[in-house]
Amino acid sequence: MSQPSQFAVFGHPIAHSLSPRIHQAFARQCDIALEYRTIDAAPVDFAAAVHGFFAAGGAGANVTLPHKGAAFALAGERSEAATRAGTANVLSRLPDGRLAAHNTDGAGLVRDLTERHRVDLRGHDALMLGAGGAARAVAWSLLDAGVQTLTIVNRTPETADALADAIGEPARVHTRYWDDLANLGSYDLIVNATSAGVLGGGLKLPMSLVGARALCYDLAYGAAAIDFVAWAKAAKARYAWDGLGMLVEQAAEAFELWHGRRPDTEPVYQALRAAV
Ligand code: NDP
Repeated sequence: MSQPSQFAVFGHPIAHSLSPRIHQAFARQCDIALEYRTIDAAPVDFAAAVHGFFAAGGAGANVTLPHKGAAFALAGERSEAATRAGTANVLSRLPDGRLAAHNTDGAGLVRDLTERHRVDLRGHDALMLGAGGAARAVAWSLLDAGVQTLTIVNRTPETADALADAIGEPARVHTRYWDDLANLGSYDLIVNATSAGVLGGGLKLPMSLVGARALCYDLAYGAAAIDFVAWAKAAKARYAWDGLGMLVEQAAEAFELWHGRRPDTEPVYQALRAAV
């Protein structure tokens, strides 16, 4: 009998990761034999750990904080989404032995919004808080999905400006200062792409940002999203969601890249929702 193919998620820390559970559930659903484990690698050890994993026969890897930039850098080939983001959350092995980098975060967010939550993003005026790795990945996907304008506000304004410059659509993409949030008016879609919830810093956001039909979405999920979701509800947002659906959808995108099969994400999402 052939050995199950080997997959892993690299991060630091990584013990908390839900990726093994998600990919194992997808594999059971599709009747695919695989092993999927977590690998904790400090930044200084990351490249050697990845090369060692693939040299030992690894078939594919997910990559999470703090390694997404390093994963992009060590790949020999990069998808368009990874190139635009400058980061990678998925690595796969090419037939010639080189690694291919992909980024499925943006596709995961858009699929969660449009498929699970049935949102038509066309015509929305969107505000994105944060301009880090995840924000870079989702900005292009939101624009591709039809948001009318995207305003990027980051604590460090230079990073927001660099992202807007890289996108290069000045008629649709604007940046504003964090200190000006109270003067910006309201938005239809507010995406929290900061790591404030994960780091425990918290955000002080004016309720005036939330328009009458606003959808609010925190890329973080579970306890890390509680404050933002509570703020959105208090501001009378039409909907307030956390990023658990995005997590499952970005994993499904990776699964399809590796196995050529699209899993049914809903039962996996529901099981995690009950557990998180
Ligand atoms: P990065 O470290 O690359 O970026 C962090 C961003 O948060 C920066 O823009 C940073 O601003 C900002 N920030 C951090 N603390 C604060 C604060 N106290 N106030 C204001 N801004 C702050 O992280 P990622 O982009 O990789 O991740 C961002 C979030 O997205 C995390 O919560 C992560 O868990 C989540 N995520 C969820 C995914 C999912 O599948 N659901 C997938 C990927 C990420 P500055 O530039 O000024 O430092």
